Amino acid sequence: MKRDYAVIGLGRFGGSICTELSEEGRHVLAIDADEDKINEFKNIASYAVIADSTDEATLKDLGIKNIDHVIVAIGDNIQASILTTVVLTDLGIKKITVKAQNDYHEKILNRIGADQVVHPERDMGKRIARNIISSNILDYLELSDDYSIVEVKAGKKMDGRTMIDLDIRARYGCNVVAVKREDSINVSPAADDVLEEDDTLIIIGADNDLSRFERHLVF
Ligand code: ATP
Repeated sequence: MKRDYAVIGLGRFGGSICTELSEEGRHVLAIDADEDKINEFKNIASYAVIADSTDEATLKDLGIKNIDHVIVAIGDNIQASILTTVVLTDLGIKKITVKAQNDYHEKILNRIGADQVVHPERDMGKRIARNIISSNILDYLELSDDYSIVEVKAGKKMDGRTMIDLDIRARYGCNVVAVKREDSINVSPAADDVLEEDDTLIIIGADNDLSRFERHLVF
């Protein structure tokens, strides 16, 4: 059977990845040590199997080597998460995404060869904090330690003004990559496009610059 992804650990995080990938028509091998979880996902994933992912022989028997992208979503049991990641790197899996429980866990995962380490609670906390500080900040995506993309509502301060007028790039060092208006999206907007209060701006830049932009223009 064709399988595009494997999801190991079907808690809230791994479970929603498995469901979403399956709903998008991807073939998912779902693995969990807990029989109840496997029963829950057997009609969602292409193939759901009870297995201990720290056991290399078991993963080999499941044909994990033929899967390009494996997501390790074991949270609480940090030891199992680390051991599973080591086994997957030893097996030469092309892409391994692992959920980290804390910063220390994240550091270890990076050292042992995880390709992508995600920290959903921390990242979602940051996004919500941004949104709490300013209700005009609709969304926030961290690109690296220093760079992000934010989605902000134009609001009254930008209403009726153009990008030249606001001089966003020169004054704040940020780039407006798109402007959403109702159902349409204007990618790479022209400098003399006039903004409206209800427009949504998608802006990329260094965190310091974005903060200055938010302080001056978003309220
Ligand atoms: P969430 O917050 O996403 O619900 P969590 O951080 O609470 O997840 P856990 O409950 O620790 O995550 O683990 C998620 C799943 O991983 C559980 O269903 C658990 O049975 C499974 N799991 C833990 N260790 C192993 C293992 N060695 N092999 C396979 N599955 C495992």
